[in-house]
Amino acid sequence: MDKGARFRALWRRPSWVRIPPPAFNMKKLKIYYSKQINLNGIKDALNENFGVKIEDAGYLYLPENAYNKIRGQYNAILLLSVLPSASLWIVDKDIYIRGMNFVFGVAFQQKAIVSSYRLTEKMVIKEAVHEVGHIFGLEHCRNECVMQFSNSLAEAIKKPSYLCSDCKKKITKDI
Ligand SMILES: [Zn+2]
Ligand SMILES: [Zn+2]
Repeated sequence: MDKGARFRALWRRPSWVRIPPPAFNMKKLKIYYSKQINLNGIKDALNENFGVKIEDAGYLYLPENAYNKIRGQYNAILLLSVLPSASLWIVDKDIYIRGMNFVFGVAFQQKAIVSSYRLTEKMVIKEAVHEVGHIFGLEHCRNECVMQFSNSLAEAIKKPSYLCSDCKKKITKDI
């Protein structure tokens, strides 16, 4: 490797950039909620799809600084910043990310949030599987699969609540 190439390689990955560990090895996932909910369905679905142990981590209240008064919604990115790693947070308020009117959920690295605001209990379970799929490294999928991207409530209702065999393979391969 010549000096120039070496320099570029170093420059691409400076030592202060922390590469997050792969999410695939996650054995335990904490669930927080902003309002008391029945976790049984979510626990079963996550355990069934990802083989993770679920821990009821209790209440995590929504920080007021994440509330956008003009939109009347919470900023999901700010919410992610207060969520501990290896966690799913079920929030009862409407959430958004910039450029979208609302989102059902978000996932980043080993954290995921699902908003129950626009969803029935069944749909919350489905979205929880979807977002946790992302923290297990799955991307959006075009098969009959819970990892289908849904841009509207109609699309979210239409997609199945389970992983397709392709996605399942990716998960089990890495566990
Ligand atoms: Zn998604
Ligand atoms: Zn799939």
